[in-house]
Amino acid sequence: MQPTFTADADPFRTRIQAFLNEHLPSDWKGIGALNADESLEFNIKWRATLRDNKLLAPKWPTEYGGAGLTALESVIMAEEFQKVGVPTGGPNDAFSIQMVGNTILQWGTEEQKQHFLPRIISGEDLWCQGYSEPNAGSDLGNLGCRAELDGDEWIVNGQKIWTSAGHLANWIFVLTRTNAEEVKHRGITFLLCPMDQPGVEVRPIKMISGESEFNEIFFTDARTARENVVGEVNGGWAVAMTLLGYERGESAATNPVAFRGELDRLIELAKDRGKDTDPVVRQRLAWCYSKVEIMRFLGMRTLTQFLAGAKPGPEASIFKLYWSEYHRIATELAVDILGPDGMHYVGKLPSSAFSTDAAGAPNDSGSWIGTFLNARAGTIYAGTSQVQRNILGEMVLGLPKEPRADSGPWKDIPK
Ligand SMILES: Cc1cc2nc3c(=O)[nH]c(=O)nc-3n(C[C@H](O)[C@H](O)[C@H](O)COP(=O)(O)OP(=O)(O)OC[C@H]3O[C@@H](n4cnc5c(N)ncnc54)[C@H](O)[C@@H]3O)c2cc1C
Repeated sequence: MQPTFTADADPFRTRIQAFLNEHLPSDWKGIGALNADESLEFNIKWRATLRDNKLLAPKWPTEYGGAGLTALESVIMAEEFQKVGVPTGGPNDAFSIQMVGNTILQWGTEEQKQHFLPRIISGEDLWCQGYSEPNAGSDLGNLGCRAELDGDEWIVNGQKIWTSAGHLANWIFVLTRTNAEEVKHRGITFLLCPMDQPGVEVRPIKMISGESEFNEIFFTDARTARENVVGEVNGGWAVAMTLLGYERGESAATNPVAFRGELDRLIELAKDRGKDTDPVVRQRLAWCYSKVEIMRFLGMRTLTQFLAGAKPGPEASIFKLYWSEYHRIATELAVDILGPDGMHYVGKLPSSAFSTDAAGAPNDSGSWIGTFLNARAGTIYAGTSQVQRNILGEMVLGLPKEPRADSGPWKDIPK
């Protein structure tokens, strides 16, 4: 593990700090300090600023609207942005740029790159992720949403679920079953599908927080062009896994900063509520501090491997398991500190349904209760804790594999 960045990182860090000083308001406290309307307005302007400075997809080659930054530079950029509490893109860019954009860049044809990447950068296309299905979540390879070729078009039938931002997107990248005779991880094709058509129906799902961040999506004879396959027909599993591997380096750098910022707010909350002298609360805060420090070192380890060019391996499960389990406990402490106030919202809900509330967020019950509820989802999305433990048990510790009853053709697996 390399616990610090090398000296050649410093000039770039200074450049990014200067960019932030130049473009952020002088009284900037973090995007969490803005109300919903201000935040919307800021996001639109900020995305345009990043786009104009080629920093929206900083690692992409310049011909596709990027700045051609190295992995190290993009990690430093993400870290500096996180420190001042400003996003590295618009609200949809985790799906559009980090997931599908990067995947098209790696697997797409030249025509796909020329067509889709500029539309992502301009914001004309907003994407969502069509992976999970009612019978295929942890066991994603079991997916059954079908696609069949009909002349120059694919016809898609089936259902996806838990589709974040599906109500806002106009394109979906969707994993489809194109050959049921193959074993389950083969016979899958990665398709790009327009959503603005009669065959695609989006139904919102209400979350525990009361919001509707994700959706069910029903495909009934939905159509997409034959050339909208990324990678090989029936070879979509490799493309799907590439997509899941993106963001690893950046989140290893940004997550510990975000959780440290959140812990500072939690300590402030304890002081504000007169609980900082309570020995049990102090003990629990000390536990959180030690966990966040360990997370920082875990992040550095992941980052060292990422910057050395290593592909995401099973050890990435340690980081995911660690931060998401920590977050449930830390936010429970916040609600305990709030006491009876933890039963009703005051102030706005968190700006994001994922991870911590944004830097600068007011230290009130709306922020903490919302984050507490969202933290339940953290141990589910991007692979549940049980699945991460299975991966670690089997692939890192070398424990015996789970017995499997699904080795034959997908069509013969009991559904
Ligand atoms: C906030 C949020 C946003 C999401 N956004 C998206 C999105 O945009 N697009 C998308 O495609 N999906 C999305 N998901 C779905 C997410 O990927 C799935 O919820 C996740 O993969 C788990 O699948 P599942 O819900 O079907 O649970 P299941 O796989 O049915 O699991 C149910 C329970 O069984 C356990 N379990 C399952 N298999 C095993 C095993 N082999 N060993 C031990 N325990 C096991 C699980 O850990 C879990 O506790 C989102 C989920 C959430 C919570």
